[in-house]
Amino acid sequence: MGEKSDKSQESEALFKAPKDFAANANANDPDIYKIAEQDPEKFWEMNAENIEWYNKWEKVLEWKPPHSKWFVGGKLNACYNCLDVNLKEHANKNALIWESESGEIRKYTYSELLEEVCKFANVLKDLGVKKGDIVTIYLPMIPQVIISMLACARIGAPHSVVFAAFSGESLATRIENANSRILVTCDGYSRRGKVVEQKNKVDDGIRSSEIVDKVVVVKHQQNDVRMKDGRDIWWHEIMEGAGTSCEPEVMDSEDMLFLMYTSGTTGKPKGIVHTTGGYMVATQTTSKFIFDLKEDDIYWCTADCGWITGHSYIVYGPLANGTTLVTYEGAPDYPDKDRYWDIIERHKVTILYTAPTAIRTFMKWGPSWPQMHDISTLRLIGSVGEPINPGAWLWYHENIGLGKCPVVDTWWQTETGMIMISALPGITTTKPGSATMAFPGIKAAVLDDKGNEVAPGENGYLAILNPWPSMVRTVFGNEERFIETYWSKWDNKTYFAGDGAKRDDDGYFWIIGRVDDVIKVSGHRIGSAEFESIMVSHPSVAEAGVVGKEDELRGEIIYCYVTLRTGVEESEDIKKELRTYVERNIGPFARPKQIIFADDLPKTRSGKIMRRVLKAIANEKDPGDLTTLQDPDVVQALKEKTMKLE
Ligand code: ATP
Ligand code: MG
Repeated sequence: MGEKSDKSQESEALFKAPKDFAANANANDPDIYKIAEQDPEKFWEMNAENIEWYNKWEKVLEWKPPHSKWFVGGKLNACYNCLDVNLKEHANKNALIWESESGEIRKYTYSELLEEVCKFANVLKDLGVKKGDIVTIYLPMIPQVIISMLACARIGAPHSVVFAAFSGESLATRIENANSRILVTCDGYSRRGKVVEQKNKVDDGIRSSEIVDKVVVVKHQQNDVRMKDGRDIWWHEIMEGAGTSCEPEVMDSEDMLFLMYTSGTTGKPKGIVHTTGGYMVATQTTSKFIFDLKEDDIYWCTADCGWITGHSYIVYGPLANGTTLVTYEGAPDYPDKDRYWDIIERHKVTILYTAPTAIRTFMKWGPSWPQMHDISTLRLIGSVGEPINPGAWLWYHENIGLGKCPVVDTWWQTETGMIMISALPGITTTKPGSATMAFPGIKAAVLDDKGNEVAPGENGYLAILNPWPSMVRTVFGNEERFIETYWSKWDNKTYFAGDGAKRDDDGYFWIIGRVDDVIKVSGHRIGSAEFESIMVSHPSVAEAGVVGKEDELRGEIIYCYVTLRTGVEESEDIKKELRTYVERNIGPFARPKQIIFADDLPKTRSGKIMRRVLKAIANEKDPGDLTTLQDPDVVQALKEKTMKLE
């Protein structure tokens, strides 16, 4: 850290907030930054007025670093704030438009969704679930995942959603970690026309578990399943006679709303604890200002409820704003590569929030797919999950945003609960590849090892200097790991995000990637993510994963795994061209020793490149915990290719 970084990945382009967008934006007065900076607590307190409380707080913040309590003494219910509050004006407005891979569409108005949620809340109560009991939800993106989450929130039972594509063992580990007696799942679901037997995965995973008492099973795919007597219950049967109203539980601000495990990109997932009051204020506020949610918007976040993005920016934030959600349970290339654009056209989606991994895939497929559809209803597009390289940003802006939509690149984490760094689309001039500015009320900085701010243009560690309402409260059952991971880098009150970043002369943030992913070649230090950003700016490259292989002489040598764009042939010429490209854009010292063509890279289930796995492959070492990996076959294929190298 600390040395000048390569500038070539930065794009010179600037995009001003479009005038017509700014004119009606929820945030269009730059003073919002000043006001929030002067008194962040007051800023959050003002925004807390948009949430309905049974009892107001006595104190906005109690900060005993690294422990925070927000809206101390306040009482509220998160489900009530997502549903009941919208009944006054929006009872018949769609809360959810759901589409399955096979094309089935279901719509729920706010009052219909509330009714389903109340019914399931009553079911949970009948099953003996009490305030404070953790309920595990292991469902694909079907309406019942949202219904279950909100039902839990209604009765004060924290949920722990486990991504549906995880294995039965991954599920079992999380159930054990959370000591969760109740599980909600389904018979199966289909992906690209192939059936995934979810209930069988459950049976295998929890076979030896003594913890799980009851398993509620949604009949979704109609595949055959075995129901265990006394344990397994059909959702549709138990919902049949369930009462349609259920008083929301009065929750304390600091009662746990949910437990969410991180994606596991860097190691064993951490069970992140989020509480109620601060989280609701934070997600309601950020959704309103960053996604500019308005009365008529049709908002589609393509994330899964198995990730934090699905919690904060499908369920809690948008519903607390009375938004109409679109969700899609399926693959982006089924039946064909225009599925997303088809969905946007048919449902007239106005706001799209997706991930760089998806955007790079769309780039790989080419612009003819979106061009087949009228996607001109879009007015704002967003990105989350990884650094978005300027090339992908520009492609997204041009081909999906049709050159007119502001792009919000949003940096945040499971631990932060809310978006921390992002443009405000009616205010901020954006720069492709930069997440721009900290959200009002957030003090972000780039620090060196000693905790001093680095000069503009220099790489350092991304840090948050002040507390925020939806900050992680602890790692479930592992307070030590909480302190050690996030607070011990500097002074126990500055949050260490684990990401590298730099700021430019205008103070804009450029997130580089995880700090543990640094390659050291002959005394030079290069961030993997930075290197990859340059690789993918080459027109033939769709994706790249770059790691160091230990080398006696040079410390490390560079192994570069590359997926080419559709239509580009693998050849020695391309390798040569890519090497020259690296030399020119980074420097001769960074010349990759090996370029390995890969049909796919090892990724987490949320689509992030797992460099630690690539690194293990390059170094012929044990890759460690692979439970969060998307496709284990990829690892084998790359191992074979790597072993063949001389
Ligand atoms: P684990 O913590 O288990 O390794 P993870 O960090 O991938 O998993 P998440 O909390 O889902 O789990 O992801 C947060 C991380 O994603 C951030 O720390 C950052 O590395 C990356 N990220 C998210 N949004 C952005 C963004 N807009 N720009 C750059 N990086 C981003
Ligand atoms: Mg992380």
